[in-house]
Amino acid sequence: MKISVQQSDILVEVERFSEERIHPYAKEFELNEELPSELIREMGEKGYLTASIPKEYGGLGLDPVQFGLFIEQIGKSCNSIRELITVHNSLVGETIVRWGTKEQKEKWLPLMTQGKRIAAFALSEPNVGTDARNVETHYRKEGNQYMITGVKKWISFADIADVFLVIAAHEEEGQVTAFLVEREWEGIKTTRMTGLLASKASHIAEVEFMDVVVPAENVLGPVGGGFSYIASYGLDHGRYNIAWGAVAIAQASLEAMISYSRKRTQFGKKLCEFDLMQAIIADATTKIHAARALCLHAGRMRLKRDPDSIMETTMAKYFSSKMVMEVTTDAVQAHGGNGFSNQYPVERFFREAKLLEIIEGTSQVLQLMIAQHSISKNYEKR
Ligand SMILES: Cc1cc2nc3c(=O)[nH]c(=O)nc-3n(C[C@H](O)[C@H](O)[C@H](O)COP(=O)(O)OP(=O)(O)OC[C@H]3O[C@@H](n4cnc5c(N)ncnc54)[C@H](O)[C@@H]3O)c2cc1C
Repeated sequence: MKISVQQSDILVEVERFSEERIHPYAKEFELNEELPSELIREMGEKGYLTASIPKEYGGLGLDPVQFGLFIEQIGKSCNSIRELITVHNSLVGETIVRWGTKEQKEKWLPLMTQGKRIAAFALSEPNVGTDARNVETHYRKEGNQYMITGVKKWISFADIADVFLVIAAHEEEGQVTAFLVEREWEGIKTTRMTGLLASKASHIAEVEFMDVVVPAENVLGPVGGGFSYIASYGLDHGRYNIAWGAVAIAQASLEAMISYSRKRTQFGKKLCEFDLMQAIIADATTKIHAARALCLHAGRMRLKRDPDSIMETTMAKYFSSKMVMEVTTDAVQAHGGNGFSNQYPVERFFREAKLLEIIEGTSQVLQLMIAQHSISKNYEKR
């Protein structure tokens, strides 16, 4: 894989930024249940919030492999910041790059790449999650504009977002369409969700749309293509992020458990000297290696725009998100009682890992997709 000097410079730079400006404060972000606006602004100015958006729109223009490695560096320090980039850059930004009109790209992308506008992806609802084609949020057309009504739930960064990519169904015909809805318009109410297991700093909110008037120029992609084209495209990009985000949390957990096992003494020996502790470390190291290899393979296929990259990404996300649950569970185990305390980072990693099996397609729905693909391909053709 050829890496341009400029792109590898960005990775060195982001590793340092992540270590110095994010890692020391990740626990504080969670306790405060928010990301500091100055940090978001600074990351916007550096182009970090839109690292894979093409340079012509002000993004860093990282290719998929480099972007994956970038996400790993950020995700090792703070999963909520990784989530911000996933939603803003990938679920919404990449989708506008692919499906937006010239006017939509010119309006939104420069603002998003500078971090002057934050975007959220509004698909899930109180009654609709995995069955995402059947959204209840609905729209009707009146002249040259659309009226949207409904409630979206679990929307990351909805609390601070300036624009929502909203998936809604026609009130009578049921065809699903995507809209770019601006927060300042009348009839939008966000309510912050609290009491969450993790992602406490991800500004998650419910969003209510009450007869919100949306001009026709804010339809994203084809009318009726809201799920097949827009949501599916965004979710594929989101899955690629989550796969790398899982590698990131698992790598951070491995480093934490090795550091701990090199310091902690029991029976007169360091924990890392015990065979059974070494078995945990060996398994975690190998699983992370395998997950990273799947992610890199998916990244190389995405770089070549290979249509099979979608399934490769699905498998990488499925495998990595299961892997990170296993590794973070072992990392807590390796810390003994201290693994139960928020004085040690593995407690947070363990909680954050669980999310990755739920968002951007639960493990079960990904299993269904992988099985269908496999059944259609892997049979004896002689
Ligand atoms: C922290 C967090 C952040 C999120 N951020 C966003 C966001 O920014 N934007 C957004 O739109 N959504 C977001 N979500 C929502 C997320 O995408 C959904 O939670 C997810 O799609 C699952 O939907 P659900 O919660 O309704 O679960 P359900 O669909 O009700 O599923 C419940 C369980 O049933 C299983 N299940 C469902 N159908 C099947 C089936 N056919 N076969 C077998 N098992 C099945 C599921 O795998 C799951 O285990 C977020 C969620 C969380 C927790």
